[in-house]
Amino acid sequence: MSKENKYVNLSAVRREDQREVMEEIKRQGHCPFCLENLQKYHKNPILKEGKFWILTENQWPYKKIKHQLLAIYKTHIEHLKEIDPESGKELIEMFAEEAEKRNMKGGGVAMRFGSNPEYGNYGSSVLHIHAHLVEPDLEKLEETEAWRFKFGEPKNYKKRVG
Ligand SMILES: [Zn+2]
Repeated sequence: MSKENKYVNLSAVRREDQREVMEEIKRQGHCPFCLENLQKYHKNPILKEGKFWILTENQWPYKKIKHQLLAIYKTHIEHLKEIDPESGKELIEMFAEEAEKRNMKGGGVAMRFGSNPEYGNYGSSVLHIHAHLVEPDLEKLEETEAWRFKFGEPKNYKKRVG
């Protein structure tokens, strides 16, 4: 029996091409965002490396977006309370610089943390701390559609249809 991989969360996987890679990562028992594994699984270039964060594009972008950047914390931590507050400054600087460079009109910044596998998940497929910078593509949204970012769902969550 393979050892449980506590670094990834397959119930939060959104895409089929993502699922294949994540299943391999799970089998290997790797954390895909730890530096030694990042180059193995993450195919997008590193845009910037700071003291605390690595900036890259999301390998598994959400639908209907113009931009989606990912800042990955350089050491393996999983909870908000473990983050060096100094790294907040660097994170904002990195995101602001990229938003400027890409002429982003607006969007959002999101970071999830922690896990609670007994009851569900907080939306992350990878528990290693990372932050998203997203510009949704407003022109691609339907009249009744809002671009949303999930912060949690119960175990055995069933997507509502219609
Ligand atoms: Zn890690």
